[in-house]
Amino acid sequence: MKTALICGVGGFIGGHLAKRLKREGYWVRGVDLKNHEYVPSPVDEFVVGDLREQSVVRSVLDKRFDEVYQLAADMGGAGYIFSGEHDADVMHNSATINLNVLEQAKLVRIGRIFYSSSACMYPAYNQEDPDNPKCSEDSAYPAAPDSEYGWEKLFSERLYLSYHRNHGVQVRIARFHNIFGPEGSWTGGREKAPAALCRKVAEAREGGEIEIWGDGKQTRSFLYIDECLEGVRRLVNSDFMGPVNIGSEEMVTINQLAEMVMSIAAKKLSIKHVAGPLGVRGRNSDNRLIFEKLDWKPSKKLLDGLRMTYKWIDQQVALSRTGWATK
Ligand code: NAD
Repeated sequence: MKTALICGVGGFIGGHLAKRLKREGYWVRGVDLKNHEYVPSPVDEFVVGDLREQSVVRSVLDKRFDEVYQLAADMGGAGYIFSGEHDADVMHNSATINLNVLEQAKLVRIGRIFYSSSACMYPAYNQEDPDNPKCSEDSAYPAAPDSEYGWEKLFSERLYLSYHRNHGVQVRIARFHNIFGPEGSWTGGREKAPAALCRKVAEAREGGEIEIWGDGKQTRSFLYIDECLEGVRRLVNSDFMGPVNIGSEEMVTINQLAEMVMSIAAKKLSIKHVAGPLGVRGRNSDNRLIFEKLDWKPSKKLLDGLRMTYKWIDQQVALSRTGWATK
């Protein structure tokens, strides 16, 4: 039986990955600061611990795992990472986790380690035109991410590659582009655009109004969680180290995203544009490299994933009105 350690198993992607690895027959240990907020975890061992502590890292990575998935990070949507208020925490906490995990991974000689980087590491100067952003893997340098979150991801990518170069650690690095789906943050300040819009639409009365940060003409692409995990599993099973984009190429404006959610909810609402943290003007995944190396591209439309996400968040909103939702 193959063994895996998931760091950040109490989070959105870690929670879904745990289900997938269990379905595939793995023995799984997971670690996180907290239990999963929305669903019971299917892992064989769930450790609540802080990966900023090297003693915790030593105790959870105490033997050779076939695969380690390092997803733990201090992160959130634009409201969290672009406000500037969390910069020191984001850099210190996430970098410390990666430094600790890699040092221990080297000592116990793990099979391979997956690291989740982000499209936020791409240079801001290539993402000023909403209709024509450039995010090919080879466009990363000269580096100019627009957030400290992006700088930490870039630093950690280099850290993983250094451990490969100097210590032979088998690393796999993906740059995720806006992953979304059920069972992720939908309120509380760390939620990202798809979840936030689903919540706003679910909470609004017919004929009411929702707020969008900025003019809503900024572009992004969004990848449904199941598709993301297919890309991750293919990367880990391959000989290709990355870094490689895992995202969708179906680019939409935030206004279009809001319209899609409203059509799913069958609600007619007006949009009020307000000031808020925004990030780059345009971003889209470039999937040429992953298609070439792993023969992978997303199989579903954005609308399909949004339907499933809206349904779950609508339920959470209804539950929260009765006082039953976890958050
Ligand atoms: P998430 O916030 O839901 O999950 C991260 C988990 O890490 C949380 O459960 C958190 O408690 C845990 N964690 C944080 N600090 C910890 C610590 N010191 N010790 C132990 N656990 C700790 O985020 P997610 O959306 O599941 O993202 C997973 C990874 O993918 C992150 O590294 C994130 O930066 C990256 N990523 C995600 C997206 C996305 O759209 N969701 C996009 C790009 C990159």
